[in-house]
Amino acid sequence: MSDCIFCKIIAGEIPARKVFEDDLVVVIEDIAPKAPLHLLLMPKRHFSNCLDMTEQDEAVVGHLFRVAGQLARERGLSEGGFRLVQNNGADAGQTVFHLHIHLLAGRELQWPPG
Ligand code: 5GP
Repeated sequence: MSDCIFCKIIAGEIPARKVFEDDLVVVIEDIAPKAPLHLLLMPKRHFSNCLDMTEQDEAVVGHLFRVAGQLARERGLSEGGFRLVQNNGADAGQTVFHLHIHLLAGRELQWPPG
């Protein structure tokens, strides 16, 4: 999508700190981290959020969760824990309308979120 900032990051048109990439997904460090570790996991194919998902997107969402687990394990988070968050729409705090999962860790996280 031409005006999507995450599509531009995926295409390499805007710089970002990429920590993982494969055929289906890209993982970057959040530009404004809300925790000591704050990664954004996104599919390469553009869709805005779960309201916009089609059947062909189901596999990539499962893949995103598996990559999240792999990255968390590599960073030693399997014991202490970490949080995965995915916002849908403005009231939920979504600001970039290209589906992404936040991976947050490195401090005690409060529940419920604000
Ligand atoms: P949302 O609020 O949509 O769930 O999350 C969007 C996230 O993207 C925010 O945490 C924000 O800091 C991050 N973000 C926005 N623009 C950029 C950017 O250009 N580069 C990176 N690395 N992160 C961004």
